[in-house]
Amino acid sequence: MAGNWKMNPATEQDAMDLSESLTKLLGDETCPIDDENPLCTEVVVFPPHPFISKVKEVVEDAGITIGAQSIYFEDKGAYTGSVSASMVKSLGCEYILCGHSERRQTFGDDDQAINRKVLKVLDSGMKPILCIGESKAEYDLNIKNEVCAMQLSKDLANVTKEQMKEVVIAYEPVWAIGTGLVCAAGDANETHAFLRTVLARMYDDDVAQETRIQYGGSVTPDSVDELMAMPEIDGCLVGGASLDADKFGRIINFK
Ligand code: PGA
Repeated sequence: MAGNWKMNPATEQDAMDLSESLTKLLGDETCPIDDENPLCTEVVVFPPHPFISKVKEVVEDAGITIGAQSIYFEDKGAYTGSVSASMVKSLGCEYILCGHSERRQTFGDDDQAINRKVLKVLDSGMKPILCIGESKAEYDLNIKNEVCAMQLSKDLANVTKEQMKEVVIAYEPVWAIGTGLVCAAGDANETHAFLRTVLARMYDDDVAQETRIQYGGSVTPDSVDELMAMPEIDGCLVGGASLDADKFGRIINFK
């Protein structure tokens, strides 16, 4: 279960408050975390870059892993405003979001840039969560599968079968992100199954079956149980609801 905080919350103090609420919640009797009771679900949070270190210090007590929302694919140099893979790795990040639709739409990340980021994350010893998904127009045109297959093939170019062990895919229909329109669990399950056929074609059946595929787009405590009951859905990438510790806690403890 991954929580993408996007450009939230407003201040470092707010980020600490959220981290502390989450840690406290996961540490209480509803989900005790200690050496004998490790968190049964792997949980990652993606705070904004300036908050990564401090958030990590708090949430790691609850067994939560930290990730970064974005990196630039170059190692260093004159790239004002960017952060490199080695920078966030040195802060303890283990996962990096690549290809989120907001990066594609607002910041112009194209498939070539996303592919370079995925390769850089892997070369740096971290794990990319590659986000793919169709827009509303593509959904209406009934070309969802073609769009997702194309994104997978371009964004994973030159990623080896061995490296696929470190790659997570997040299927996020763009029309479901931040809209309250959650994709029907059965439809998401079908798309995930289709994505596995694409991975089988690109790699083999083992990669297709073993790659974690998360669903993302308006996941809430109300929708998580049905989504997670689907055989092809391995986890969720949660935006808005991850900013509320109670909601995210309930999502983590899906039934
Ligand atoms: P949402 O965002 O849960 O607010 O729809 C999901 C995402 O962007 O990953």
